Amino acid sequence: KAKQSGKNKYHYYSESLHTEYMKSLNVLNGLKDALSEGFLDLYFQPQINLETNKIDSAEALLRWNRGNPYGFNPDDFIPVIESTELIHDIGAWVIQEACRACKKWHEQGHHISIAVNVSALQITRFNFYSIVEDALKESGLDANFLEIELTEHVLLTENMEVRSRLKALKDLGIKLAIDDFGTGYSNMNYLTRLRVDVLKLDKSFISEINVSKDSRVIVTAIIEMANVLGMQVIAEGVESIIQRNTLRELGCGLGQGFLWSKALPNLALLAFLDSSLKSGYLKVLDDYEQS
Ligand code: C2E
Ligand code: MG
Ligand code: MG
Ligand code: MG
Repeated sequence: KAKQSGKNKYHYYSESLHTEYMKSLNVLNGLKDALSEGFLDLYFQPQINLETNKIDSAEALLRWNRGNPYGFNPDDFIPVIESTELIHDIGAWVIQEACRACKKWHEQGHHISIAVNVSALQITRFNFYSIVEDALKESGLDANFLEIELTEHVLLTENMEVRSRLKALKDLGIKLAIDDFGTGYSNMNYLTRLRVDVLKLDKSFISEINVSKDSRVIVTAIIEMANVLGMQVIAEGVESIIQRNTLRELGCGLGQGFLWSKALPNLALLAFLDSSLKSGYLKVLDDYEQS
């Protein structure tokens, strides 16, 4: 009997592996076409200063809306891209496009920053520094307005080339953010060693912040630590006004989430920036507060 269930288990396992494999093949083939057809888009999600209700920055997020018959979303296709050499071309394109967009916003009177996600593989490439430098030069964007989002995992690297590359980028004026902070490792040496500027609190803490005492305690501790170390904190995945209020009480500086906006195409973000500039603050919050 045990043998039989073992066999079934194996059968099930290999079947799901096969499905996974077929899925990544579909993703890969579709992506190659999407790339050559220029079907990938970069969207932008605003990041809000919780004190002033003004837009401080935006995060660039990759979208594959056209020529995507299976409807793959970033959590499906980005890990596949990251497992291939494609990440270098797509990643470089993302950085260039993000710098150009941000420079455009500045020319329209909105002096906000742009945050770009960078994968572990990208940063191990010898030419990563020059890709960033070229994107800044080509767009005319000041390095101080560019923020690179890495995961904790990347920062634990013992790879000296990667470390010195990160240091060179910091010296250029670029800001360093840690994405999904709190879900990775607990060795915090790297925070000061690499001069991290921003901690992005993972959305799993935010969704629990008014429900679980543990989450609230962790968030409080992270904010206090960041304050001491002179780092900014952004809460990811803020969906309700209650969460936003709690975060503000705890001294969290910035927030990002569906409460304000999902990621938007460039023109829609510009409209969002224009309307918030006119009223001096974000109207959506005003509406929430009155209801
Ligand atoms: P991330 O960098 O942690 O990005 C935040 C994700 O949370 C985004 O998902 C965003 O749309 C979503 N989000 C924002 N606000 C809310 C909210 O209030 N509630 C909920 N439930 N979700 C919210 P998205 O765009 O699907 O991206 C998923 C992940 O894919 C990103 O996680 C990032 O790791 C990766 N990614 C996206 N674009 C790029 C890129 O250009 N390069 C690389 N290397 N990775 C990227
Ligand atoms: Mg991110
Ligand atoms: Mg994140
Ligand atoms: Mg994430």
